[in-house]
Amino acid sequence: MPPSPALLAALTDRLGAAHVLTAPEDLEPYLVETRGLHRGRALAVARPADTAEAAFVVAQCAAARVPVVAQGGNTGLVGGGVPQGGIVLSLARLARVRAVDPTNATITVEAGVTLADVQAAADGAGMLFPLSLASEGSCRIGGNLATNAGGTAVLAYGNARDLVLGLEVVLADGRVWNGLKGLRKDNAGYDLKQLFVGSEGTLGIITAAVLKLFPRPLSRGVGFVGLADPAAALALFARLRARAGRDLTAFEVIPPFGLEIVLRHTPGATPPLAGRHGTYALVEFSSTRPDAPATEALEVALAEAMEAGLVEDATLGASEARNQALWTLRENLSEVQRREGGSIKHDVSVPLSALPEFLATATRACEAAMPGLRVCAFGHFGDGNIHFNLSQPVGMDRAAFLGQWSRFNRIVHDVVESLGGSIAAEHGVGLIKRDELAHYADPVALDLMRRVKAALDPHGTLNPGKVVAPEGGGPPALPPA
Ligand SMILES: Cc1cc2nc3c(=O)[nH]c(=O)nc-3n(C[C@H](O)[C@H](O)[C@H](O)COP(=O)(O)OP(=O)(O)OC[C@H]3O[C@@H](n4cnc5c(N)ncnc54)[C@H](O)[C@@H]3O)c2cc1C
Repeated sequence: MPPSPALLAALTDRLGAAHVLTAPEDLEPYLVETRGLHRGRALAVARPADTAEAAFVVAQCAAARVPVVAQGGNTGLVGGGVPQGGIVLSLARLARVRAVDPTNATITVEAGVTLADVQAAADGAGMLFPLSLASEGSCRIGGNLATNAGGTAVLAYGNARDLVLGLEVVLADGRVWNGLKGLRKDNAGYDLKQLFVGSEGTLGIITAAVLKLFPRPLSRGVGFVGLADPAAALALFARLRARAGRDLTAFEVIPPFGLEIVLRHTPGATPPLAGRHGTYALVEFSSTRPDAPATEALEVALAEAMEAGLVEDATLGASEARNQALWTLRENLSEVQRREGGSIKHDVSVPLSALPEFLATATRACEAAMPGLRVCAFGHFGDGNIHFNLSQPVGMDRAAFLGQWSRFNRIVHDVVESLGGSIAAEHGVGLIKRDELAHYADPVALDLMRRVKAALDPHGTLNPGKVVAPEGGGPPALPPA
């Protein structure tokens, strides 16, 4: 699409030249996704200061039929924020915490506040905002809501979707819907806010949100556990959940290969356990009760599980610094994979009861398809969500390996589908899973999604070609590498 001088002039006039970027070096950070795998193109980046300016940008783009791609922290992992022309609408300057209400247990924030800053504002009011991702220093709450982010605290508190009470949204035509209510009960018609949560910028632009806060835990206990296999991990999870209920705040699984590479590439990291085990679990208990410290409860629960023969070995973080060191082993897993060459990623979920079967079947199928490939299947086991990632065989050409992305998608996603799972658990669909969604989705569901898109964005200007392509195809999905 040729640049539109009139559009750029109007945006510059309203936002100021400093906030309508057109120079190639200024555009660059907005065109490439976080892993450098995908590159897009854009006419300009608009950086509005508030909701009214954001609405102005969207209205101008709608009138000119120019695509608008929202961006928060640009940490998304499915190419959803990569523009394929048009205007990138950066929400980074909408960065105010508008209100904290400890009695209502809510916080009202603008879309550009980083997740870490939302957590800090809640903490400053003596409360907890539980959403937690390894990218929390860079991702922004509008992006978290637009992707319905998951992370490590879903077990106790749910996804981003479960943490939102109200939204302010700029619609495709530039109107602003003010749904900033802080109500825990509100059945007055359809729940519109949930349409926008998880819609990845394809239905509206989130400019602010009312979020739930929770009592801040007084203590946490973190354990690193060695187990025979995923079936033992599942049995341990069920046992701990029955015992601790909502105090079980995380249950993450790390395979031996994952622990090996995180120790290899994390300076100063030491093996948490003496021997080698079939699989590892990072377990966290939290407690808001002064009379029931989380570490003691976790110690008793793990000792009982060991006596029952479920746990082979375990270590507990004896201090907050040690707790954090154990968490670092898990958090660094995403990063260290790139140090082992190309990595083909699948963010999938299956019912908890099917996790061991999924891991065994998908691992067997991938290893048979490419001898030497190294499966790194880790993640939010307690939510049924596995990052089923594949590291290239040692010595293989990286590009040749990544060229097999679609082939391995089909192998892994077929197993997911056969077990009643989801091919997009927490990262979303964006561009790189759009055609996979079309392949696996129920045709009725796909038709409904297309109708919702057409109703809310009739001219198709909001993040076109992402999530659901129009019937008959949209622009081609990005190549995997
Ligand atoms: C190291 C690392 C760890 C991660 N761990 C997790 C994890 O545990 N769980 C998880 O779920 N994700 C994880 N992610 C992925 C990513 O951080 C999340 O998807 C995050 O929610 C994206 O937020 P963002 O602000 O960076 O959004 P962006 O990348 O900027 O955008 C993501 C999508 O949302 C749209 N969008 C952004 N802002 C808005 C808005 N205001 N209104 C409408 N649409 C908008 C964009 O158009 C795009 O489609 C991780 C990423 C990294 C790099």
